[in-house]
Amino acid sequence: MAPPIRKLVKPLPKAPVLQAPAKTLPKPGLAKAPLAATKAPIGIPASARVAPADDGFAKAREINQERKRQADLRANQPFEFYMKPGEGGEDGVILIITDMARMPAMPFFHYQHRWGFVKGQKGSGKNDECIKDGNEGCPLCKKLGREGTYEMVLTVLDGRKYTPQNGPNAGKTIPISKKLFIVKTTMIPKFERLYKEHKTFRGMCIKMFRDNDKDASIGSEVRFVKMIPEQVLQAKYKELAVPVDYSKAFPRPTYDELAARHGESMANETHVGGADFAGDTDADSLPF
Ligand SMILES: [Zn+2]
Repeated sequence: MAPPIRKLVKPLPKAPVLQAPAKTLPKPGLAKAPLAATKAPIGIPASARVAPADDGFAKAREINQERKRQADLRANQPFEFYMKPGEGGEDGVILIITDMARMPAMPFFHYQHRWGFVKGQKGSGKNDECIKDGNEGCPLCKKLGREGTYEMVLTVLDGRKYTPQNGPNAGKTIPISKKLFIVKTTMIPKFERLYKEHKTFRGMCIKMFRDNDKDASIGSEVRFVKMIPEQVLQAKYKELAVPVDYSKAFPRPTYDELAARHGESMANETHVGGADFAGDTDADSLPF
């Protein structure tokens, strides 16, 4: 259902002089045409929408600035929790979840694209939001040829000590660090049971186990250890006990923002499929 909608969004950002002739407008028979046509401009900054024909340079600067802003935003977020196979052994790895107080507050769920991972190379992959649940379709679904994964995101305190080699804390041992904890669809039911049993994730101390490299990167087995009371959580962990602001960690992009971030060519494509991008090596495009 996504591909037809894609075509409808494309003509809108142009300046009046370049307005698309009627023949490029939605073809008859596309059921969602009126919806997509009216929805497209909502949420797209006017500056990004209106690009006078003689100001292409300004448009490029604007796109680059936005791209840098998004990259900076992401760079300031905590790392994602990751376990090596066999790490922790019989004792597992202990984590404290800091999300939420009581039901019915819900954890943060979203669709996420992840790609370009090289097996055994931590941090080699890329990720970005999938907006397939919106009305405009998702440019990354088309570019990558597959849909994003449904994920639940929690904030955890990771008690594995580490010593950064670079940056302001180089050489210092960090005893506890705040991490994003990404639970993919198949693992979510295990956490749902814990959530329903304890009525919250906040203060939940768990152990994760990962036996082999086929297991989820957060581990495939979760064991409940204990609940840590709110007062203890705040007194002992202070700022660390504040969960990540997910609206900042994973801001939802508009169709055009997502398309611009991963190669402007996408914004003008009339047909985009996974195969079309398989050999794309453009520097502005994502590695595959
Ligand atoms: Zn997508």
